[in-house]
Amino acid sequence: MRLAVFRRSRGRNLRIGVLFTYVEVKVPRRMSLVEAKRRVRKLLPRLVRDLRRARALFLRAMGLPLERRSTEELLTQFSELLSRALAKLKIRGVRVSVSNRLRSAWASAIIKRREVKVSKLAAFLPKELLWYLAVHEACHFYSPSHDKAFWQCVEKVHPTYRQSKELMTLYSIKVKRVCEGLWTRSRS
Ligand SMILES: [Zn+2]
Repeated sequence: MRLAVFRRSRGRNLRIGVLFTYVEVKVPRRMSLVEAKRRVRKLLPRLVRDLRRARALFLRAMGLPLERRSTEELLTQFSELLSRALAKLKIRGVRVSVSNRLRSAWASAIIKRREVKVSKLAAFLPKELLWYLAVHEACHFYSPSHDKAFWQCVEKVHPTYRQSKELMTLYSIKVKRVCEGLWTRSRS
């Protein structure tokens, strides 16, 4: 098991996180490394299990093919799909724009402004997942939160959405990895 050990400059607690291929251990300033080791050892069976699961997910994600669309191609395709989804819900007058700033979400619906922003990174997604994304955002004009009515709306327009949703999670892992610098601020 690969461990990456860091000293925490703030905070009092030992932090242990499973990051797909290794375990990150952040040791508070006042804790000795011996003590940190003892605590990690105590959690070992769980860490090994979590790491195995995370690594399997990671490998599946890494095997996924990426699309290469230009921003214009993304805008055109996503607009088409969103119009189709909105038409099914009889909703009109929603604008689409591509955002460079969306990092933690693939898209975002701004209900009051009747606008959907789609992340530039969605250019990497296969068309079937752009469809899921379009349906998801369209349904937010029906129900802004992820409540029961919302998911019923998604299911009505996209009956096999659950598979797409799962695949989206895997694509998040892959695209995050590919665009580490783009998506998150680089960790130093
Ligand atoms: Zn949502």
